[in-house]
Amino acid sequence: MCGIVGYIGEGNAYNVLIGGLHRLEYRGYDSAGIALVDDNGKLNIYKTLGKVQALENFCKDKNVEARVGIAHTRWATHGEPSDCNAHPHYSEDGNLALVHNGTIENYKVLKDALVEHGRTFHSDTDTEVLVQLIEYIRVQNDCSLLDAVREALKQVVGAYAIAVIEKDNPDCIIAARKSSPLVVGVGDGEFYLASDASPFVEFTDNVVYIKDEEIALIRRGEPLKLLSFDNKENEIDVKKLEMSISQLEKGGYPHFMLKEIFEQPSTLLDCIRGRVVDKGRFVTLNGVNDNSETFINAKRIVIVACGTSWHSALIGKYLIQDMCKIPVVVEYASEFRYSNPVITHEDIVIAISQSGETADTLAAIKIARGMGAFVYGISNVVGSSIPRETHSGTYIHVGPEIGVASTKAFTGQVMVLTLLAMTIAGLKKTLEPRYAEKLGEWILKLPALVEKVIELAPDIERLSLIYTYARNFLYLGRGYSYPVALEGALKLKEISYIHAEGYPAAEMKHGPIALVDAEMPSVIVAPKDHLYDKIVSNVQQVKARGGNIIAIVTEGDTTIRNIADHVLEVPEVPECLTPIITSVPLQLLSYYIAINKGKDVDMPRNLAKSVTVE
Ligand code: GLU
Repeated sequence: MCGIVGYIGEGNAYNVLIGGLHRLEYRGYDSAGIALVDDNGKLNIYKTLGKVQALENFCKDKNVEARVGIAHTRWATHGEPSDCNAHPHYSEDGNLALVHNGTIENYKVLKDALVEHGRTFHSDTDTEVLVQLIEYIRVQNDCSLLDAVREALKQVVGAYAIAVIEKDNPDCIIAARKSSPLVVGVGDGEFYLASDASPFVEFTDNVVYIKDEEIALIRRGEPLKLLSFDNKENEIDVKKLEMSISQLEKGGYPHFMLKEIFEQPSTLLDCIRGRVVDKGRFVTLNGVNDNSETFINAKRIVIVACGTSWHSALIGKYLIQDMCKIPVVVEYASEFRYSNPVITHEDIVIAISQSGETADTLAAIKIARGMGAFVYGISNVVGSSIPRETHSGTYIHVGPEIGVASTKAFTGQVMVLTLLAMTIAGLKKTLEPRYAEKLGEWILKLPALVEKVIELAPDIERLSLIYTYARNFLYLGRGYSYPVALEGALKLKEISYIHAEGYPAAEMKHGPIALVDAEMPSVIVAPKDHLYDKIVSNVQQVKARGGNIIAIVTEGDTTIRNIADHVLEVPEVPECLTPIITSVPLQLLSYYIAINKGKDVDMPRNLAKSVTVE
């Protein structure tokens, strides 16, 4: 959500910053802006509502000479999306420019006090308070910019990643973070700063992840300094970036989303590599075996997540309960944190987030830790906050996901949850060894089977033409297929803006069946599993009310084929692996419907990739 880029060095700051903003577009935003200090000490700020391209067009005839600058894509939280509310914001004396990701919760109190001291505000944002406050403290205390930033941050309640530059001191960028991500790229005589490493991956692979409540002092020609809020110097831990530029490009596909759907055979392979070994006979996952007592003795597992990750969490519940016989509760992180949760040291809390930066999930982790639970994190972005904030955890290793609608991260999460359940079951001896081995063998075959599902793309594209103009969709499934139905409905909503409801198929009788008519198609996820006969009845119930049915079935299914209007056949796999197979056709269906409607599938309106604000 929102993006920050910064650059200081001897190169062309404007090019780095604009290129970086383009890279961060996937995170979701409504306006963009840039602040540059030229070699004559002039601070130039340009900002526009709309796309980064609009900002680039706006800058065409402007002075963009600079060797230092900061830039931003905004996802409005306070004040409407507009030129004026776009970042960077500047201080009253015109000396400072600041970009901010996050929210300042006590901005009103701070603003009122500053207005009383004669400051005038030019925007409706919470952010402007911060830059005015820094300048006010600086003038009042006659202190350095670093001291002023530190003092201001002490007064601020909220979540933020910020970067500040100063007209009179163009050799320095000050950055800081609390709950929102920021990473420094260390180049040769130059530094990059960004919300994630994608803006500078072609310039350097040396990165330093700024920690929570840490200030980075980035000065031209000097080593990077990291300071705590109480001004102690922290150690610099330079990490090697595991990201390549080709992962950030479309590679011939029209959209990142399609590329990411098609990549799933290889991302699943990456996800299981080294974890399912000895021809499937042995399954292991980081952080489980080395905490074996904790997992063996867990009385309960609580999984916290948001959005698509919450759907994977629901599948995780079925997996863990089936294989490990441990009761599992799944909570929306945003609800969990305010629900007075009852957590004990006998609970394990699993937190899932693709970005590893989801604000509500991070808050839930803090609460769970505070109450004594062992917290295990599952994320995709190496170096993100979740791995740092949890006791232990693992990555899904599916590579950067750029499309806002999550696809490969979803199947990666489900895969990791399957491995997690199998590993715990191995420790607890709750899974029959021969069955566990068979499952391991199936997992090794999954990437090739997903490849077969992807071959359905042309059929799904044709099918999508029939339903492009439906106004409502119902997605139904039972057991493992219920969360798949929820995820299918979410994908459609996100990118085509068609209303879709996901429902447990049997619950349909308690309400949604009233909506069924010839105008509302039902997508029914019905692979051959232990609930197959039950869902056949549900299919019949929809048909009896004149509904059109698209069914996802196991290859060779004839029963549902005779009832449904359209069937998409997927390969047979053990029941617990069906979500990975059945979710792929639903991803493709939503993609093609959105394309038929002319929607921007990679950057759907109002949505952000990683939700780093509450
Ligand atoms: N709260 C700030 C605003 O509304 C920053 C939002 C963001 O993270 O982009 O301007």
